Amino acid sequence: MSGAAGSGGGRMELMLNDLRLPTIKRLAGDLCAQSDREGWPGHRLLEALLEHELAEREARRLDRHRAESSLSPDKRLSSFDFAAVPGVSKAQVMALAEGTEWLDRGANVLLFGPPGAGKSHLVNALGHALIDAGRRVLFTRCSDLVQRLQAARRDLRLPQELAKLDRFDLLILDDLSYVRRDQAETSVLFELIAERYEHKSLAITANTPFSQWGEVFVEPAMTLAAVDRLVHHSTILEMNVESYRRRTAQAAQTAQTPVRRTRVTAATARAVAAPPIPAT
Ligand code: ADP
Ligand code: MG
Repeated sequence: MSGAAGSGGGRMELMLNDLRLPTIKRLAGDLCAQSDREGWPGHRLLEALLEHELAEREARRLDRHRAESSLSPDKRLSSFDFAAVPGVSKAQVMALAEGTEWLDRGANVLLFGPPGAGKSHLVNALGHALIDAGRRVLFTRCSDLVQRLQAARRDLRLPQELAKLDRFDLLILDDLSYVRRDQAETSVLFELIAERYEHKSLAITANTPFSQWGEVFVEPAMTLAAVDRLVHHSTILEMNVESYRRRTAQAAQTAQTPVRRTRVTAATARAVAAPPIPAT
């Protein structure tokens, strides 16, 4: 039996529509039938229906949060090789992923390292874990967001645009160092940092150290003020390792070379050991 069928099913379906309880509407027929068959007390039936509705509502909420986040779907903690970045403590990252109270304090995470070190992967993975924990996350390339904020400022709706970003517990700005060194752009970035300070968290990846951020913010005073706010409550992850892609490509190449040699050797050995073809 499907739907909220049974006697008065049509009316029940309408009421469940009005109450926006789609899961109960879908399962009521089957669960009522099971309850009748097995003689469940009324509260058990009610509880079962409500539990299903809540569980599906939660699953839909997580799906919505993941869809709005723009995170790369396959960059997860489970696929991140911590052994490849000895400077990063797995325990520290897991603590950020599992204990989300740092988001309530508006604390930040800053990831530094050369291109290919795994900054984007790790920050995406952290984002997914926080969504699983019920938080809202937005991933964006830093330069894209700066352009969006700059357009908002031109249209005199910068405060509204910044307020929209307030919905997110964590805003991930990927590749800060690629922001164009243009006064107007970098000052909206500063406004964003100042607006979220001690209020909402930021995660920033950069392939240049703080000492070179002067090139991003242009004005030294603004750079100092931005860095000061960002580091005040922050976890800094230093990923000073060579590109993971290059290392894995090199490792694959080194692994391949002896294999080829072995194959040649084995084939040669077989050829040598093969009995001579009998003459006919
Ligand atoms: P970055 O953002 O520092 O330039 P990425 O995170 O884009 O580097 O990493 C480059 C590629 O290497 C990606 O495909 C990423 O998934 C992979 N990668 C980097 N570091 C690791 C790691 N420690 N474990 C697994 N994959 C990694
Ligand atoms: Mg990256």
